[in-house]
Amino acid sequence: MNCKEAQNLINGYVDGELDLVRNLEIEHHIQECALCTQSYKNQQLLRNEIKTGSFYFKAPADLQRRIQLSLRKATKAEGRAWVLPKWWFNIAAPMAAAAVMVLALVPFLRGPSADDLLAREIVSSHVRSLMASHLADVPSSDQHTVKPWFAGKVNFSPPVEDLAKQGFPLIGGRLDYLDNRPVAALIYQRQKHFINLFIWPSESDSAVETKTVSRQGYNLSHWTRSGMTYWAASDLNNAELQEFVQLLQNQTSPTS
Ligand SMILES: [Zn+2]
Repeated sequence: MNCKEAQNLINGYVDGELDLVRNLEIEHHIQECALCTQSYKNQQLLRNEIKTGSFYFKAPADLQRRIQLSLRKATKAEGRAWVLPKWWFNIAAPMAAAAVMVLALVPFLRGPSADDLLAREIVSSHVRSLMASHLADVPSSDQHTVKPWFAGKVNFSPPVEDLAKQGFPLIGGRLDYLDNRPVAALIYQRQKHFINLFIWPSESDSAVETKTVSRQGYNLSHWTRSGMTYWAASDLNNAELQEFVQLLQNQTSPTS
């Protein structure tokens, strides 16, 4: 075996991958050749270093990110060089048009607003109060009976107005639960129609103008005034409900 052959086989010899005959041949050569002995020692040293792990080092934490970034850049650069075939536009143009339509529809596809959800809850509560002969917990037309009744049941004092003279007599008060909190419900009557007036403290002190919506055949009006949120619900026609709301707002002094 000459040096060239030995050098080629030293790796295999160090790793114990050679057959018996080759093994003996290289052993014999190394014993007589200083150069190949040195190569053999170097290989053995390297092998041991690798085995003991002193050649291992931890990759920097952001190496993965940097590689991904450079790959992305490279992909983009390649992408710019692409020449799109004509048929691609035949597909892309209608797709773009569809995307524009979807974007235009997004405002309509959004889920119901907080007010919408509350309106549903108000209607349910109004209907439930009429169904189960549970219109009032405190059946009284006297505002001085109804108002104190809420003390200790809710942590606020709802303004209770008597509108009997104006054609909306007070029927009573009820404890209800809306928007994840106990609320005061006042019941007013207009001929054969009932109005549920839900009251609870508003989250902000700023007044909110009256908004009117119609849900499932019921008219709803809501506003915020003097730190209280009001929702009125009734099957009364909207004109008369607005009359009621107006009367109530005129009666409710800012300090009550
Ligand atoms: Zn040699």
